[in-house]
Amino acid sequence: MCGSGVFYDLASELDGEGHAVLRDERQFVVAIVGAGHGGANAAIALRQVGFKGPIRLISADPNLPYERPPLSKEYLLGEKDSERLLIRPASFWTERGIELLLGEQVKAVDAAAHRLTTTSANTIEYGQLIWAAGGETRRLSCSGHDLVGVHSLRSRSDADAFLAELAHVTTAVIVGAGYIGLEAAAALIKHGKSVIVLEAQDRVLARVAAEPLSRFVEAEHRHRGVEVRLGTQVDCIIGDERVTGVRLAGGEVIGCELVLVGIGIDPAIGPLREAGAEVGNGIVVDAQCRTSLPDVFAIGDCALHPSRFSSAGPVRLESVQNAADQASVVAKAIMGSDAVYDAMPWFWSNQYDLKLQTVGLAAGHDEVVVRGEPATRSFSVIYLRHGRVIALDCVNATKDYVQGRKLILSKTQVKAEDLASADNRLADMISP
Ligand code: FAD
Repeated sequence: MCGSGVFYDLASELDGEGHAVLRDERQFVVAIVGAGHGGANAAIALRQVGFKGPIRLISADPNLPYERPPLSKEYLLGEKDSERLLIRPASFWTERGIELLLGEQVKAVDAAAHRLTTTSANTIEYGQLIWAAGGETRRLSCSGHDLVGVHSLRSRSDADAFLAELAHVTTAVIVGAGYIGLEAAAALIKHGKSVIVLEAQDRVLARVAAEPLSRFVEAEHRHRGVEVRLGTQVDCIIGDERVTGVRLAGGEVIGCELVLVGIGIDPAIGPLREAGAEVGNGIVVDAQCRTSLPDVFAIGDCALHPSRFSSAGPVRLESVQNAADQASVVAKAIMGSDAVYDAMPWFWSNQYDLKLQTVGLAAGHDEVVVRGEPATRSFSVIYLRHGRVIALDCVNATKDYVQGRKLILSKTQVKAEDLASADNRLADMISP
C-alpha cells in the first residue's frame, strides 16, 4: 500500500492525557469501488477537502482512470489517443497517496464487517465505502450475440477491440439509436463505412428526447449517409465464428462485418444488493448519496437519488456531471459536512458538427416548444411543466443552454410563444 503512513499516523493517536490510543486502521480507510468518473473524482475530491487517510481505488478495469465520453467520439475518430483520455496522469495517484488496485473486481461486500472480497480472493477492509461501479452494457439475448465482430462500447478495451476490426469492415450495423449508437454511427461514417442503424422504437433518441429533436437528428444522419431503420427488431445475428449479418424479425438479412450493440446499461449493483442494500433501478441513496447500509455511499450511474429537478421521483442519471458532482458531495460528507447533492443535471453529445447540450430533466413535461428554426441547424427544444421551463435540448445553441439553465432555476412562468422566437432572449424572461 502506498502513502497511508505519509498522510496519517494510523496506528495511534493521543488521548486528552497524552496516552497513545490504538486505533483500528480500517476506520480511516476509504475504499472506492470503480475508478471511472465517479470513483476517480471521489478520490481526487477527498484529497481536495483534506482527507488524509488511505484511499483504495479498486477497479475491474485494468487501465488508469480515463474519460468515457471520447470513446464514442474523438477516440473512435483517432483524434485523441489513450494518454489524453486519462482523468489524471499516472504520477498524480502516487503523489496523492491514492492506492490503485486495477483489474480487481469486487464480488462481495460484508457490510457488518466492513470488508470487500475481490475475484482474486483479496479482502479489503474499509471504514467508509464509496460504490461507484457504473453500469454494465445490456447485451442482445438472441442467437449469435456472442459472435466475433459483435461489440459493445463502454470501456477503453471495448473501443480498442472495435477499432482493431475497422480496417476489415465495409458495412457496420448499429443496434440502438441512443446517444452512443448515434455517436458511433457519425464516427463510422467519417471512417468511410456503410452504416445501418436499427431502432426498435419509431424514432431515434426516443428514451431521452422529444420528437422534434429525434426527427432533426434522424434527418442529419440520413443526410450524412446513415441508413436509419425505425420500428425494426433484430431476430438474430448470423455467422459461423464471425458475424456475417443481422437477421431482422421479418426475415430480411442485412450483411455486415461488424455489429455494435448500444441498447443501454444496467446499473452495476449486484454485490451491494446481495449485501442487503435497498435497491430499485439502482442503489437507493439519500441526498448525501448514503445507501441504506452503514458507511456505504453510492454515486454515479448506479445511484438512484432524490432530485428536485425530477418531477418523476428519484432518478438514476448516466452522465459525467452527475458522477463527478456526487463524488464531490460524498467526499464532503465523509469529512463531516452536511452538503447535499443538488446539482442541475446536464449532458452533451457531439455528432458530426452538431453540439447537443441538455440541461434539466425533461421527464414529466406537459408541453414542448421548438425555439428557432431547425433548418438553420441552431435551435432548442424546450420542455415545460405547468408553464415553467424544466429542461432544454440545445443544438448548436450554447446561449440557450446557458440562459435556459438560469430560466429553469428561476421557475419563472413563461409563455410558449415567447420561448419559440429565437429573437427573444431567454435571460430577459427571467422574473427578477
Ligand atoms: P463508470 O465511469 O462506468 O465507472 C465504473 C467503473 O467501475 C468501471 O471502470 C468498471 O470497470 C468498475 N466496476 C464495475 N463493477 C465493479 C466491481 N464489482 N468491482 C470493481 N470495479 C467495478 N456522459 C456525458 O455526460 N456526456 C457524454 O458525451 C457521454 N458519452 C459517453 C460515451 C460512452 C461511450 C460511454 C460509455 C459513456 C458516455 N457518457 C457520457 C456517460 C458517462 O461516461 C457515465 O455517466 C460515467 O462514466 C459514469 O461514471 P461512473 O463512475 O458512475 O461509472
